[in-house]
Amino acid sequence: MKEYPKIPLGIFPTPIHRLPNISKILGTNVWIKRDDMTGVGLGGNKVRKLEYLLAEAKEQGYELVMTTGQAQSNHAMLTAACALRLGMEPVLVLKKRGICSRRGNQILNYLMGVEVRFVDTDSYDDIYAEMDRIAAEKGKPVYKIPCGGSNPLGALGYVDCMKEIADYGQAFDHVVCACGSGGTAAGVFLGGALYMPKTHITAAMVDSDPFDKIVPELMEGTRELLGLNMPLPSVDLVDMCGPGYSIPSKEGNEAIELMARNEGIILDTCYTGKTFAALVKMAREGKFRPEDNVLFIHTGGAGGLFAPDWENM
Ligand SMILES: *Cc1c(COP(=O)(O)O)cnc(C)c1O
Repeated sequence: MKEYPKIPLGIFPTPIHRLPNISKILGTNVWIKRDDMTGVGLGGNKVRKLEYLLAEAKEQGYELVMTTGQAQSNHAMLTAACALRLGMEPVLVLKKRGICSRRGNQILNYLMGVEVRFVDTDSYDDIYAEMDRIAAEKGKPVYKIPCGGSNPLGALGYVDCMKEIADYGQAFDHVVCACGSGGTAAGVFLGGALYMPKTHITAAMVDSDPFDKIVPELMEGTRELLGLNMPLPSVDLVDMCGPGYSIPSKEGNEAIELMARNEGIILDTCYTGKTFAALVKMAREGKFRPEDNVLFIHTGGAGGLFAPDWENM
C-alpha cells in the first residue's frame, strides 16, 4: 500500500470506550470513538483529513490556504486552526448560508483572527472564482481545500481511523458514522473493508446530495491513491437528513438528549445527533443482537452547537 506524508496535528489514537447506560437502554453493547477529542479547536473529524491535506500543501510550498463551506462550517474553522498552527495563512471563503453572525464557529474564527469572506451564492464555482481573485489580490498561490476536505487524499484520514479502531483490539459487529460531504464515510467504508472486513458499516446521510454516487467515487479515488486493486465495498447509507442540512430534526434532538442525559456526552444538531439517531433507530428495529458490539464514531461539531438560539428551538 502506498503511503502519503501526514503532518502531525491531532492527538491520536482518540479514546474508545463503552457507553454503559446507553447500552442498557438500547439492549446491546454501544461503544464510542471519540473523534470529538482530536485535540485542535474543539475537536472533530476534519483534523484527520487535514493531516494529509496540509502536508501536501506544505510539501508543495504553499503559504496561503483556503477552504469553504457554510457559515457554521466545522471544517472551515478546523482548517483555519490547523493552518495557523503550521504557520500558514488561512482565508475562509464561505457561502452566505446558515448563521453568519458572530455565533458558534464564527466566534472561534474571530478569536483566531481568521479572515472570513462571505459570498452570497449556492454555487461552488463562484466560491472557487472568488478564492482565485483573493489569491491574486494577495499575490500568492493558494492551496484550495474542497468543502469538508472531502477528496481522495482527505479520505485517507478515515482509512487510518479504521486501522486505529482495529488496533484497539475489540471486535465490532457494527460501526455507525456520519456522511455530510462524503469523505469520512468513504474512508470508513474502505478502511473497514481493509482492516475490519467482518464489520457492518452504516453511514447516516445528513444532507440530500447523491451519496450513493459520491461515496463510491471518493472510495475509488482513495483506492487508486493507495495503489490497491481490491473490489470496492458496497455502502449502506441511511437518510437522516430530516427537514434539511443543518436544520435540527426531531429524531436528532431526541438522540442528543439521550446521550447528554445518560452519558454526559454532547452531540451536535447538524451531524452527530442525526447520526446517533440512526443508531438508536437500528437498535429499536432489532438490527443489533444483545451480544453485539456497536461502535458510534463521534465526529465532533461542538462549535456549531452554540450558533442557534436555543430558547426558540
Ligand atoms: C464534516 C463533519 C461530518 C461529516 O464528515 P464528511 O466527511 O463531511 O462527510 C460529521 N460530523 C461533523 C461534526 C463534521 O464537522
